[in-house]
Amino acid sequence: MSDIPTAPPSGFRDFLPDASSLRGRAIETISKVYRSYGFSAIATPAVEDLAVLTGKGGGENEKLIFKILKRGEKLDLSQGPKELADMGLRFDLTLPLARFYAKNRGVLPTPFKAFAIGPVWRAERAQKGRYREFIQCDVDILGSESALCEIEVLSAALSAFQALGLDLPAVVLNDRRILYALLAEWKVPDEKRQGLCIILDKIDKVETSILKQDLIALLGHANDHVEQFLLAGQIDEELLLKVAPEPMQRLKAIQKALRDLFPSPVEIKPNLVRGFDYYTGPVFELRRPGVSGSLGGGGRYDGLTEKFGTPHTPACGVSIGFERLMLVLEESGAKKTSGPDAVMTIFSEELRPQSLRIAHDLRSNGLSVDVYPGEAKLKSQFKYADSRQARFALVLGPEEASLRKIKAKELATGAESLLEFKELVTALQHAQTLAQAS
Ligand code: AMP
Repeated sequence: MSDIPTAPPSGFRDFLPDASSLRGRAIETISKVYRSYGFSAIATPAVEDLAVLTGKGGGENEKLIFKILKRGEKLDLSQGPKELADMGLRFDLTLPLARFYAKNRGVLPTPFKAFAIGPVWRAERAQKGRYREFIQCDVDILGSESALCEIEVLSAALSAFQALGLDLPAVVLNDRRILYALLAEWKVPDEKRQGLCIILDKIDKVETSILKQDLIALLGHANDHVEQFLLAGQIDEELLLKVAPEPMQRLKAIQKALRDLFPSPVEIKPNLVRGFDYYTGPVFELRRPGVSGSLGGGGRYDGLTEKFGTPHTPACGVSIGFERLMLVLEESGAKKTSGPDAVMTIFSEELRPQSLRIAHDLRSNGLSVDVYPGEAKLKSQFKYADSRQARFALVLGPEEASLRKIKAKELATGAESLLEFKELVTALQHAQTLAQAS
């Protein structure tokens, strides 16, 4: 027995064919929706220079970077830990996008609407719905200050849930400027803001009684306003409009537009704080009861690309957390199957070329056909077709060949039919359409 572990490291996962197939289809659906909104796909590398990933407002995530040791001659162990690494795995898709934009903006349209779907890495403590490697699906608009950007990126994300047949998540909106204006109104000193945001960020994870104690420890005394409005989440829209009229009006415009388009709840909650410091305006989260943490999040980050040397570029985006979306999709009973439309059996060596030709022509007609990869009795080949969850097993024996037909056995029912090639294409396409609709 080898002592090399076969399980991936904690927080990393293997995906079996059925799960991979469902994930692949979900990514295709999300990409299609993002494209339908006019976003163009871009891709950036997994690895970025540490200078890109650090000091740009990534908040706590900067502490979770998987760093890559310098290699070869560059690695000098005597230089101390700070000098040991020069690159890291990206922990989100926003910083790489800001760098990408700074590098390529000369050839990009303005405003620029981009989408990116890919893995990111964070050295988190792994648990259900929280991994060290996970996929994010981001849409962003760079180069426009309009609230239409927030409306479009959030609409694209909600439409992706709709296209996957899922109930829509709730949208929660806020703007740090509203929170800070409230704190000023309640005479909370500016230097306590950061600590308060850390407390508010734990609302869904930690009991209120503990948060109240943390609050007293931070402020040196109890503060009824903070408790009532921020911890307990009571909302007084008039007060919000009074203390922060411009940010509130913008949020209300976003809220109205989304409510007009989608049946999902859209709420303004001044206690929503997002971990990233690069946000400069509205921030948002997609939430769903029963799912711990958010299904997606985003906001406006107007100053970020400047840190990579561009002139002022307003920007905003949203990121769907693909792994949590997959948890919801799996719970919804979405069918997982990686099976092909048919398995083409090989009756004999003489008939192999004709069987390969049939498989080839079926594939050209958009069908997935798995040719049995080996030599075996028909019975074993049928067994293989079953294990592959194929819809049909196809046989071209001497009898079928002499009739210029193919035998198609529907594996779910055992029904057999003798079909000409064209009839076979129609039958398989029909079965494929039914399976996709079910
Ligand atoms: P963030 O980049 O932190 O704003 O996260 C955006 C979305 O990514 C969240 O709403 C989550 O759905 C998802 N997400 C964040 N961290 C993790 C993680 N460790 N594992 C799985 N999904 C995550």
